[in-house]
Amino acid sequence: MLKIKNVDTYYGNIQALKNISMDVREGEIITLIGANGAGKSTTLMTLCGVVPAAKGTIEFQGQDITGMPADQIAALGISQVPEGRRIFPYLTVMENLDMGTFLRKDKKSQIKKDLENVFELFPILADRKNQQGGTLSGGEQQMLAISRAIMTKPKLLLLDEPSLGLAPIITKRIFNIIKKINQEYKTTIFLVEQNANLALKVADRGYVMETGTITMTDSGDKLLANEAVKKAYLGM
Ligand code: ATP
Repeated sequence: MLKIKNVDTYYGNIQALKNISMDVREGEIITLIGANGAGKSTTLMTLCGVVPAAKGTIEFQGQDITGMPADQIAALGISQVPEGRRIFPYLTVMENLDMGTFLRKDKKSQIKKDLENVFELFPILADRKNQQGGTLSGGEQQMLAISRAIMTKPKLLLLDEPSLGLAPIITKRIFNIIKKINQEYKTTIFLVEQNANLALKVADRGYVMETGTITMTDSGDKLLANEAVKKAYLGM
């Protein structure tokens, strides 16, 4: 579904990504783990066109999207939940969700059905639908950010550190729902996480990133059992 080939990305003179190659197959959850500053967010921003790739190619469903503007990439069905959530704080929950449907051209009845599904996944959002986004708790805001992305009906959902700043119990709930979105909606998921333990448990495959380079890739289970991964990322 997605092929990243030999990509370099720079911020001015600083090279953040060094010749990275990754692929994402339709229907799977893949995760990219790594320490602070490794280049995980930059990878997501490069592939959705927010930061340009200086070298290499990115292909989505057979189409070359390297250098394509971010809005066109979004219209192809790639939706990102950025780090720090970035919901619209002064809009209500309902209005935030409506923003997710902006680019959709399908029937109103389908959009209504998707909204019902979102409220089934996150009943708390239905209870709070007239409340301003900024007044929600951190966990609820993460649920809203994920829901807004689901309302775009993405083929590929990019999640940047969904666990950031959340209590362990809420994080666990969010991860269960990520799995559910993948299984029930057949949405392919690219998950960036510092919480390697949870991420590798939920993912089919994982990539490990160190200072802008991919250093390892394997199934989630194998990476969880890998001694180097255990030592560096699982605190064992
Ligand atoms: P974190 O988990 O802390 O978000 P990360 O793995 O997502 O880390 P990135 O945010 O992609 O890492 O950062 C990769 C490198 O690029 C870091 O060295 C960072 O300091 C640098 N960087 C990120 N954004 C910018 C920017 N706007 N300008 C300059 N350098 C940047």
